[in-house]
Amino acid sequence: MSLRSDTPLIDTRNRPLRSLRVSVTDRCNLRCQYCMPEEDYVWIPRRDLLSFEEMDNLVALLVELGIERLRLTGGEPLLRRDLAALVKMFAARSGLRDLSLTTNGILLADCAQKLADAGLHRITVSLDTLQPERFKSLTRRDDLGAVLAGIQAARATGLAGLKINTVVMRGFNDDELVELIEFGKSVEAEVRFIEYMDVGGATGWSPQQVVSRGEILELLGRHYGAIEPAQREDRAPAERFVLPDSTRFGIVSSTTAPFCSSCDRSRLTADGLWYLCLYADQGIDLTSPLRNGASNEAISLVIASAWQRRVDRGAEDRLAIPNRSVLVSVSTLRKQHHLEMHTRGG
Ligand code: SAM
Ligand code: SF4
Ligand code: SF4
Repeated sequence: MSLRSDTPLIDTRNRPLRSLRVSVTDRCNLRCQYCMPEEDYVWIPRRDLLSFEEMDNLVALLVELGIERLRLTGGEPLLRRDLAALVKMFAARSGLRDLSLTTNGILLADCAQKLADAGLHRITVSLDTLQPERFKSLTRRDDLGAVLAGIQAARATGLAGLKINTVVMRGFNDDELVELIEFGKSVEAEVRFIEYMDVGGATGWSPQQVVSRGEILELLGRHYGAIEPAQREDRAPAERFVLPDSTRFGIVSSTTAPFCSSCDRSRLTADGLWYLCLYADQGIDLTSPLRNGASNEAISLVIASAWQRRVDRGAEDRLAIPNRSVLVSVSTLRKQHHLEMHTRGG
């Protein structure tokens, strides 16, 4: 009997269970200042990592309960060996309307076509600067060329909806927004500017470094002229805009104008903890019941009742705090590494 019904599963704020980020690994081959600025990290033990079969089992139950959009992320998802095999498993789930990937692009040149052939629908590549020296100082790796090659490979697959994610940081890359838009045009990718967030892992965050949605629009408007809002198509967090030459771009204003009231998103970590909010303290352990032989019905019940009790609105709560500063200290992150953005899946 199918658990999926026409009535969506909703939380206490009337938000449906619709979109899922699956973090396939907490490892990463970059060390972006706003995500992994420390010298060392505590990793998920290998024995705790879900196998592809276990992930697919949980995803099948989540799809039955309403998930329609799934994004593979990490850490760096392309570090997970044979990711195309997992894409193939997820692509076979008929309830999924949208299957996408967020990657730093370093390893993408070699596998973009394989992922497209396996059934991936869309690719988003993170790229914060087009200047090699800046890239190196931001990520501690001298690898901008690999990312650019990855973007070209993603474009060559012909998959629609190629996107570039750019975290905007004051004094770092706020003078490159026009160049990034122009680069996006040249590779037929839509750029999405993301406000710098005080998530776990961003241990150097300060409000002064946040470039707000309003400032981003002003900076771009000065160069391009009048910018119009684009029609909203779904509950996606990016607000979309159109330049006078019809170029579209997005802004994700998670820090200054959060969108928690319509958030249908949850996150599954590589070791099977299910988080109902990016800022949530605790995840729901789905691995133990899975590995202890609980029935699918029993696990579905855990998922459904957790969603029905969901009250989270983490970014709105953060916005209400006066004199906001770093969310979690380095010492707490060491003890509770699931609070890290790269562990819970950005
Ligand atoms: N490693 C992959 C990547 O970088 O695309 C996927 C995981 S990463 C955590 C997902 C997204 O989160 C990236 O686009 C990254 O820029 C964004 N991100 C990480 N830390 C952030 C922060 N402090 N504020 C805003 N966005 C952040
Ligand atoms: Fe950078 Fe993504 Fe790695 Fe975080 S997980 S350090 S954002 S590449
Ligand atoms: Fe959703 Fe939490 Fe992000 Fe708000 S802070 S948009 S509730 S994940």
